This record gives sequence, structure tokens and C-alpha cells, in this order.
Amino acid sequence: MSEVIQTVDSSSVPAHKPNNADQHWRIILRNAIRNPATLWQRLQLDVSYLPAAKRAASAFPLLVPEPFLARMHPGDIHDPLLRQILPLDAEMDPAEGFVTDAVGDVESMKAPGLLHKYHGRVLLVVSGACAIHCRYCFRRHFPYSRLGGGREQWQSALDYISHHKEVEEVILSGGDPLSLDDPKLINLMDRLMALENVRTLRIHTRTAIVIPQRITVEILAWIKQQRKQVILVTHVNHANELDDTTAEALLKLRQAGALLLNQSVLLKNVNDCGYALTQLSRKLSQQGVLPYYLHMLDPVTGAAHFFVSAAQAASLMTQIAEVLPGYLVPRLVREIPEAPAKTPLWWNL
Ligand code: SF4
Repeated sequence: MSEVIQTVDSSSVPAHKPNNADQHWRIILRNAIRNPATLWQRLQLDVSYLPAAKRAASAFPLLVPEPFLARMHPGDIHDPLLRQILPLDAEMDPAEGFVTDAVGDVESMKAPGLLHKYHGRVLLVVSGACAIHCRYCFRRHFPYSRLGGGREQWQSALDYISHHKEVEEVILSGGDPLSLDDPKLINLMDRLMALENVRTLRIHTRTAIVIPQRITVEILAWIKQQRKQVILVTHVNHANELDDTTAEALLKLRQAGALLLNQSVLLKNVNDCGYALTQLSRKLSQQGVLPYYLHMLDPVTGAAHFFVSAAQAASLMTQIAEVLPGYLVPRLVREIPEAPAKTPLWWNL
């Protein structure tokens, strides 16, 4: 029997109108700090670091929203949240083995914005925008304007997914999918969920953590309506990123029916000690999120100063496995271009 390509007519998808809550997170995002001098002034940092920050930020701009800034300690250049967004001179040092496309994204692109690397699941880059700029970002050089897909090109990604019946899970990524406004995001998610072969929609987001106000009534209502599985994967690297505002947003997501998982990146001077990783897993658990992956740093140009060796990573895993229950021990993995799955680096034998 010949295979029928299933296409979805977006005109059949109900329209969603924005409300005040939808605008609130946009205002927070609009007011996010983009100027290093403002960050320095707000956190009362040593001005001797400022010229380097300005140089690094000219290549990859600074972006940090107020709710995330509020969780940092003023005056502390070593604050683990600040380290994640702090532009440094070290970003411009050449580092052997560090490249612009560290995980082979461009090679695995099957339609604009659509990456198909692993059996049964695809990843859709739905936006090049984020609510924060993480200095270790493995897509910091991704050519979003050329290859990022975008709303007008989603149909070819939808056609690809419906034609490949083995694809049961779609991962929304970016940038950050929650940087889209609700009507656009819900329209896309409706179209994906309408595909017969799609059983699970997975949303990877850091926005839900750095601007918890992004979890709007509309998003929650949409999740509640679904008969297929919705998984939301948060990106949290340190326990200090989680506070009462994230707890509230995550609770609402769970109550709406989303399964909550977390993935972290192992980062030098952020979370490269047993205590920090243990506290992270415990805090995630308290907020209803299971630690899923601990990623080795992807070797992307500009991020070498975050590198932690595989030997140290394995030692850290042994330390945390000695004190945490198994369900709170994340899987230590590395993404290797063209590998059929994430490569595990440590097992609790
Ligand atoms: S939120 Fe994700 S995609 Fe955006 S800068 Fe941070 S790591 Fe990169």
C-alpha cells in the first residue's frame, strides 16, 4: 500500500487570543539586561572585569532577565548563576577541538529547522530567540536566519514528520520554543499533535525557569486538553536557579498533566562539585522534576573555559550516587555527531 503524506491545514486550528498574563512575560523579556555596564551596576561587580565583558558581549550579546538576576548574589563574581551568563575574555581564546557546530546539527537537518538524528524522534528548532544567553550554549553559532525554519516553513517539517511513520516523538527546541507567543506556539503544537504518528510532544525550555511567568493560563489549558503525552524538559544547572516562583510554575505544569524532567550541563565553576550536583537533584525533586541528563559540555567555540574532563565527571557521578537515591542520579552523557543515541559515560554498577 502506498504511503499517504498527511498534511495539516492550519486554518482548521482554533485561534488563541493573547491576554494580560501573556503580555507580562513579554514585558519582563523586553526589560531584560543587555548592557554589561548595567549588569555590573546592578550586581555591584568589580569594574576591572567590565572591559573584557564588553568585548565578549560584542560577539555573543549579553541577555539576562530580571527574575534570574534576582537569584544571584550581588558583589560575587563567582556566583554560579552569574558565571553562566558572564561574558569573559576567555571566550575569544582559540581552543583545540572546539568548533562552531559541535553536535553535527547542520548535517542532520532534513527540512528547515528539523533535525532527525535518532530513531523515532525528531527535533524542531522553532525559534532562534531565548530569554537568556548562556555562554556555554552549543547553538551559539547556529545559523538560525538561514536554517532555523520559522513559522512560514513549518509545513515542510510537518510533512516530513507525517511521512516518516516511525517518528513518534517531536522535540520542540531552539533557541527556546517558549520564546514564541502563545497563539503561534499553540498553533504549531496543535498541528503536531494532529499527526497520527506523533504520540509525544517534548518541550525543551530554559524560559520556564528564568521567567516562570511564561507559564501562562493558555499554555496550561492547552496541556490539560491533550490526550497524548506532553513532556517538559527544564534546563537547570544549579540549585540556586530554583525558588518559590519556579516551584509555583512547575507545580501548575504538573497539575496540568505534563511530565517534568531536567537536563543540566556539567560546567566548570558552576556545578563541578559533588555538593552542587547533589543539591541540584534534591531541589529539582522538591519541585517535582526528575533529573534526566547531565550533559558533558559540547565543544563549541567560545565555551572552552567551562570544560570538565570525563575523568572528573565520572568521579563526581560516583560521589553523588553514594548519597542520592537512584531516581535522583542523572545519566551522564555526551552527544557525539552521527552517533545513534546520546553516549553514556558512567554507569552505577
Ligand atoms: S537558553 Fe538554551 S538555546 Fe538559549 S542560549 Fe541558553 S543554552 Fe542556548
